[in-house]
Amino acid sequence: MKLEQILEKSNISKESIYYNEPMSKHTSFKIGGTAECYIRVDSLENLQEILKLSNENNIPLTIIGNGTNILVKDEGIKGIVAKINIKSIEIYKNNVATSVGAESTEAETSNKSVTAKAGAESTMEEAVQSTVTQVGAESTEAETSNESVTAKVGAGSTMAEVAQALCKNGLTGFEELSGIPGTIGGAIRMNAGAHGKEIKDVVINVTAIDYKGNIKKFSNEEMQFEYRNSIFSKEKYIIIGAELKLSKGNKQEIEEKMKQYMTWRKEHQPLEYPNAGSTFKRGADFVTAQLIDECGLKGYTIGGAQISTKHAGFIINKENAKAQDVLKLVEHTKKEVLKKFGKQIELEIEVIGD
Ligand SMILES: Cc1cc2nc3c(=O)[nH]c(=O)nc-3n(C[C@H](O)[C@H](O)[C@H](O)COP(=O)(O)OP(=O)(O)OC[C@H]3O[C@@H](n4cnc5c(N)ncnc54)[C@H](O)[C@@H]3O)c2cc1C
Repeated sequence: MKLEQILEKSNISKESIYYNEPMSKHTSFKIGGTAECYIRVDSLENLQEILKLSNENNIPLTIIGNGTNILVKDEGIKGIVAKINIKSIEIYKNNVATSVGAESTEAETSNKSVTAKAGAESTMEEAVQSTVTQVGAESTEAETSNESVTAKVGAGSTMAEVAQALCKNGLTGFEELSGIPGTIGGAIRMNAGAHGKEIKDVVINVTAIDYKGNIKKFSNEEMQFEYRNSIFSKEKYIIIGAELKLSKGNKQEIEEKMKQYMTWRKEHQPLEYPNAGSTFKRGADFVTAQLIDECGLKGYTIGGAQISTKHAGFIINKENAKAQDVLKLVEHTKKEVLKKFGKQIELEIEVIGD
């Protein structure tokens, strides 16, 4: 049976299914061929159904979050691309649920307290800016003292949405991560980090589902977090939610810190152009961007892809770049760094597609 017929019979809302969907619309690089079928997955039930259909019919399944750390090949992606869009933010003080999107539907969550346009469907500047501009509504949530505070967040909530909600409730511990333009799920998978903090430092546990549909809770230790890596790059699980540990703080100070981090990003990162963050991982004993810079590669261009003149660690989509252009530029950069410094550099972005 054809993919369209299979999905037609399913309970998945037809409005969330897109056929022959350009992945350039769903990646911050704004590059990539088409997905045979792209589905925005708003609930665990939909995800379970997709897993079942994929298993029963041998349909390849690719999971993405906000598409801010991936390069999709020009040939596109066969089967289903499932964008994990399961959004929720619940805050618990002394194990008692308080507000901020608690128990809310995705529409409520994104329209009320924690709306943020961040990631692939917005410009890079909007994605970063959104973290600070949406914070506003007053809250008395952090008035109690001595509390242990946790937040339960859906894997599809963006880092910006979570940061805004926490700030609004006077909760500190997440500010450093607020400008990372991915989702909670993507950040956990990558152990994303910035300004001396990684998501592993705030995650208590994660709930994930394997490809057979079994749900499992992982403790922080079980996730084997490393620099830009976790168990989820080795074992096939889809992250559906996480519990985060936070502390009571001062709302104004939190907001100020987030603004400072944003300013830093705008000054140091080429947000004027589509990109996927740092192209390469940091080395064990070297700063990759510095080596690339010292190879004289800033501004080096292949097709529409360029090594940013602002930050040598970023490849940007300067002008209608193809994935091929980026991949050739990656190879050239690797070769030059090896030749000049004898160092092997490793991709941080993930290349997906056929
Ligand atoms: C301008 C810019 C700045 C950036 N700054 C930083 C930074 O400071 N620090 C940093 O660490 N990164 C940074 N990044 C990279 C990127 O934002 C992070 O790696 C982010 O965590 C990726 O999340 P995502 O939702 O976009 O994941 P995607 O790019 O969609 O996916 C990345 C990987 O995670 C997997 N994945 C996504 N969701 C799930 C899920 N629910 N379950 C299982 N697997 C999943 C995908 O299959 C894929 O393998 C930056 C990117 C950009 C564009």
